[in-house]
Amino acid sequence: MIKKLLPAQAFRKLAVLYADMQSRYAEHAQALDLSCDGCPQNCCTSFFQHHTRIEWAYLLHGLSELPAERRAEYEERARLYVRDATAALTRGERPAIMCPLNDEGRCGAYAHRLMICRLHGVPNRLRYPDGRAVDFPGCFRSQELCAAADSFPVLDRTALYTRLMELEVQFVGPRQIRTLPRVDLTLAEMIVQGNPKL
Ligand code: SF4
Repeated sequence: MIKKLLPAQAFRKLAVLYADMQSRYAEHAQALDLSCDGCPQNCCTSFFQHHTRIEWAYLLHGLSELPAERRAEYEERARLYVRDATAALTRGERPAIMCPLNDEGRCGAYAHRLMICRLHGVPNRLRYPDGRAVDFPGCFRSQELCAAADSFPVLDRTALYTRLMELEVQFVGPRQIRTLPRVDLTLAEMIVQGNPKL
């Protein structure tokens, strides 16, 4: 039977899972000879929505440890991001706005960044319980490398994602999770909204 964890316990498990994601990513990037060095694009302008309260809370926990001035700067950037992304979506455009936590190419919340920030770059696959599988091509550089290769490894992130969803249940609580609405928020919206309500 799944039991609800204390936030600190859930965060420790999430840190272990994030470390596993990082090593899986590193193996695949190495096999592909993929590096972010000198990249003319920045993945941090990609429009991503995130779906777990544990990642949301862990990110905000990381931000809460920063000096107040730096945190206030990120919060202000997050408000601007939400404003500009909403305007772009209203125009029918997909937002391409720099993440509010990106400091001239460096992630301001590196240890607490979200799953998609860790796995986006390499070709990856997600398998669903109904048998469907969805493939993601990775970043533009990864796509160029794959196009030139005879074959390339695909990171199957199903097991990592399953662990994340199990942790989400342990963090929120097995009963509470059935009553809460789905999370579908950008990182900026998570910052603007503050800690998830449980
Ligand atoms: S959290 Fe960090 S890695 Fe993720 S998009 Fe923002 S700046 Fe980039």
